[in-house]
Amino acid sequence: MNYKSHLVFYFFLSSVIVSILCFYSGITHNILISLVVGGVYSLLPDCDSRNSKINKYSNRILLASLFVLLLLYIYIKDDNIIYVCMVLTLFLFFLQVVKHRGFLHSVTAMLVFTVPLLFVSLETAFFGMVGYGSHLLLDKI
Ligand SMILES: [Zn+2]
Repeated sequence: MNYKSHLVFYFFLSSVIVSILCFYSGITHNILISLVVGGVYSLLPDCDSRNSKINKYSNRILLASLFVLLLLYIYIKDDNIIYVCMVLTLFLFFLQVVKHRGFLHSVTAMLVFTVPLLFVSLETAFFGMVGYGSHLLLDKI
């Protein structure tokens, strides 16, 4: 499947879920952010494919983030910035050696990537999981 198929399937699923949420409980103000995060998460498993759309951008975004964080460290001197840089660097190396449809296409990876979204909100984590899960489901078909 290409990235357009994954995005269309994710937005179909999320529109059904948002419709149900609107009917029963209403939606909150950060639903739009959650939907966008879910859209990114619907593409995230294909970071391990050299030909995927998200792979082209993920390496650049990770390198740019490392550069900005290291510049930030020069001014702020907060050790947490170095820890984040170490995690990003490890992830960057991981992306270079991981096999396509390996770890990133597993339920474990879905949990590893969506649990940190709980620090943003439960809603964001939920739509992140819907996005990631929809990708896994569509790849199985
Ligand atoms: Zn895939």
